[in-house]
Amino acid sequence: MRCWPSCAIRRRRAGAPRRVRPISSRHAVIAFWERPWPHAIGLWWETIMLAELRKELLYGGRALVRDNALSQRLVQRLRRHETLDDYALKTMGDRLLHRSLQAAIAKLPFYAHISPDFAPEEARQVLREMFPIVDKRTLLDHPRALYPNDGLKRPWQVLGKTSGTTGTPLVVIRSLNSVQMEQAFIKRHWSWGGYSEGMPRATLRGDMVAGLERQEPPFWFENRYNRQLLLSSRHLGDQCVGAVIDKLQRYAPAMMQAYPSTAYTLAQQLERRGMSLCVPFLFTASEPLYPHQQELIRERLAGRIMDMYGMAERVAFATQCEYGSMHLNPDYSHVEILDDYGEPTDGYGHIVGTTLHNLAMPLVRYRLSDRTRWRHGHCACGRPFPMIEPVTGKLEDRITGGDGMEVSPSVLTFAFKGVENVRKSQVAQTGPGQWELRLVPDAHFSQADQDKLLHNIRHLVDPTVQVKVVLRGDLPNTEAGKFRWVVNEWQDGRRA
Ligand SMILES: [Zn+2]
Repeated sequence: MRCWPSCAIRRRRAGAPRRVRPISSRHAVIAFWERPWPHAIGLWWETIMLAELRKELLYGGRALVRDNALSQRLVQRLRRHETLDDYALKTMGDRLLHRSLQAAIAKLPFYAHISPDFAPEEARQVLREMFPIVDKRTLLDHPRALYPNDGLKRPWQVLGKTSGTTGTPLVVIRSLNSVQMEQAFIKRHWSWGGYSEGMPRATLRGDMVAGLERQEPPFWFENRYNRQLLLSSRHLGDQCVGAVIDKLQRYAPAMMQAYPSTAYTLAQQLERRGMSLCVPFLFTASEPLYPHQQELIRERLAGRIMDMYGMAERVAFATQCEYGSMHLNPDYSHVEILDDYGEPTDGYGHIVGTTLHNLAMPLVRYRLSDRTRWRHGHCACGRPFPMIEPVTGKLEDRITGGDGMEVSPSVLTFAFKGVENVRKSQVAQTGPGQWELRLVPDAHFSQADQDKLLHNIRHLVDPTVQVKVVLRGDLPNTEAGKFRWVVNEWQDGRRA
């Protein structure tokens, strides 16, 4: 296809007569290419067509894997867990934990010394006594011991990649079953907001659905495979947001998924215009949801906000119910809240989770940097799932891009897409439209990795911001022991 426009131009220059073709869709495409347009326009059009085709394939493929009859059955099964009593829930948890621990002992050299000879009802005790606490650093330092099959993914498995908000890239191997289960847990949460398969929904997250250079609508993609309107969160500036609001009004979604920061930016734009939308339910995830954001979002964008807490390692999943409580999903993973000495605590402690579904690479007693505490009592919603206080530990400063608009930490993680050999990173705002990207490289870090990062920022995050890359030996934590991935060091900058 790539040579068609130039071939046509060469023929025309050689004086070849224009051929008359019958009108059919195939011939219409060929006739289109044979127009005497400059080569660059042909290539530009070809790029757009390929991007559209890529989106069709991507979202069509996702719908095929995630939204099939099996996934609907899984959601129904998970919904039945909401009516189990405490004993039945514990028995099911024991059985699933036993299965995960057996898989870990069988597949991961790190646990090969542990005897698999224990019953499901002993699983919690064996977990506490025999399995050490691990974290991201342990995984990065002992890949041969903590990754199955010497770290090589089998053809039927899926690689999950993340830089996370700690700025250190991590790869996990996932089973296909765990990918389907993940989607079923998310859909169970959506069902708490009255959403069921087939209703229209809008998404305002990090999906690249319109190039950053695009200045004319559409700033969205309509995923026809499961009635999803994907909006570009990079087009919420003054010039483009009017079209986005107009599209949302016409689409009238039954619910919307967003990052707290992208929903907040849209709510701010609605406020500036004296407008409101009334999306019935807004499902937020991936970032902390601040009270000032909730207030404006409720006022301008959505009647009810239901937050969700999860992470790429998939060792804990909490979902906010209609009554505002954050419920840990005990059928998703086994969660402990442990103090700095690794002991269970009733106060604030680290979230330490064990997968119940990803048997391809079972993460066992995986400690997250996030902290919370148990909330006792029963929720008015009647679900038997335990409750936690809002999760803290993901606090970052706010930073702005070249146009002065806030850039969400979740969008920033796109800078690290496909980038390897970075042990730790930090993004600092050092002036208006100026960022410093601080990296702790490993021994294999090269110019190609740095070029990839800058390319990602220009194409996936912000094309106008000026970025300086600085290599460091280490990036220290704050005095409180927390690592701030995003920092604003510009004295006029706004802080969270
Ligand atoms: Zn509840």
